[in-house]
Amino acid sequence: MQKDTLVFDLLKKELERQRNGIELIASENFTSYQVMQAMGTVPTNKYAEGYPGKRYYGGCEVVDEIETLAIERLKKVFNASWANVQPHAGAQANVAVFLACLKPGDKILGLDLSMGGHLTHGSPANFSGKNYQALSYGVSKETGLVDYDQLESIARKEKPKMIICGASAYSRDWDYKRIRAVADEIGALVMADIAHPAGLIAKGLLNDPFDHCHIVTSTTHKTLRGPRGGIIMLRHDFDNPLGIKDPKGNIRSMSSCLDLAVFPGMQGGPLEHVIAAKAVAFGEILTDEFKAYGEQIIKNAQAMAASFVKRGYNLISNGTDNHLMLIDLRNKNITGKKAQETLDKAHITLNKNAVPFDDKSPFVTSGIRVGVPAITTRGMNEGHMETVVSMIDKVLMDTDNEATITTVKNDVYAFMKQFPLYPELG
Ligand SMILES: *Cc1c(COP(=O)(O)O)cnc(C)c1O
Repeated sequence: MQKDTLVFDLLKKELERQRNGIELIASENFTSYQVMQAMGTVPTNKYAEGYPGKRYYGGCEVVDEIETLAIERLKKVFNASWANVQPHAGAQANVAVFLACLKPGDKILGLDLSMGGHLTHGSPANFSGKNYQALSYGVSKETGLVDYDQLESIARKEKPKMIICGASAYSRDWDYKRIRAVADEIGALVMADIAHPAGLIAKGLLNDPFDHCHIVTSTTHKTLRGPRGGIIMLRHDFDNPLGIKDPKGNIRSMSSCLDLAVFPGMQGGPLEHVIAAKAVAFGEILTDEFKAYGEQIIKNAQAMAASFVKRGYNLISNGTDNHLMLIDLRNKNITGKKAQETLDKAHITLNKNAVPFDDKSPFVTSGIRVGVPAITTRGMNEGHMETVVSMIDKVLMDTDNEATITTVKNDVYAFMKQFPLYPELG
């Protein structure tokens, strides 16, 4: 077969884009070379519907070993008693939990999308808001912190079946214990979606949700630095709340209901090549090197936040506990959209983001979200943050000047030369 140069040339172009730019999208990262190698392998050819030892197809003995290894390593990473590594992405992990725990029309309570929550936590545009009655809590206008008083009062009044914590644009840690206390009062389940800070939680650098939240979901490609994918975990198993029974008439455990919700509930064949890459990534997370990576993420985020504050930028909650920060640009008279588009031209990639109580549309926004996991993987330390912020500031203070943008673009290019990415790829 002729080599598809059209596609492979584009892939080469994307590699160069990743190498030459400063990647500040908080949900992105660079996997190790071996994680990528595992992903591009032969299990992509294999159908393996079901679970290790209980498949609907023959020839699964090797993928059974791969998936079992991924599960066992993941359990070790989070000190969990059960895990499912099949969800194709973070959204799918959440779909499976809802399917296993809720009936259509049940009430759920999650952080408002416009305050940092995720689409799958009850947005009207998403399955979570279409199939369930979605209620939301927010953050305090004064402090930018989750308004736990509001969460508790809505929970007591509305009695949702499930309370969801976790976010996509929240720079502070969570009080899981407090959320569990109100959930116990009203008989609700608590789901923690740790898609963003999972890598920091894995190494004990943030509060541990597992003893307080019944179910924990995550992506594998953000701070966990694995392949694109999703996972579901339990530390403590329990009877499923819908009273679903097995063929013998016994109430099924939550773990067994979650397995059934992933397959056959909402997915077909698992991506065993991606599961192999997940296993490689989980192995990497278990090392001390990954702990050092997590610690560096926090140091870099702190240094970057301080550098922005020094230049008069307004950070929501005035800082960060984790890998990201949310910046309100209104005092700088720039919209999030304009900031994103202009920085993009200088090869600095980040995303526009609504800030709490934003007066602009989600397509424009008043803010930007900035994250350090990817640049930390590239090898930057806290000493480099001042340089990165000064380049961002230079562009944002002169957004209509093409000469400034070109100067910064050249500076970015020269600066990134010292942080090689995938040298194995030539
Ligand atoms: C990123 C994210 C997800 C969804 O992940 P996908 O892999 O994009 O489906 C779910 N929840 C939260 C909180 C996220 O930040």
